[in-house]
Amino acid sequence: MSVSGLCQICEAAEATHDCDRCGALVCTEHWNRESGLCVECVAEVGGGRERQPGEPGAEDITPPDTDDETHRL
Ligand SMILES: [Zn+2]
Ligand SMILES: [Zn+2]
Repeated sequence: MSVSGLCQICEAAEATHDCDRCGALVCTEHWNRESGLCVECVAEVGGGRERQPGEPGAEDITPPDTDDETHRL
């Protein structure tokens, strides 16, 4: 076993895995088997889905100048 020590997240359980992203040693509870990442990295990347950091989140906002009727007299 190459991994030894305590989980770097809970510091209570023995670390059994290392995160592929940040390299943290984590226990089974704090390691996501699907992505191979610790739970902190999973939370950052959004559950295993790669997400662009500069992605605009304003897609749901409708441009205010689409409706001309409010400006009509
Ligand atoms: Zn843990
Ligand atoms: Zn990590």
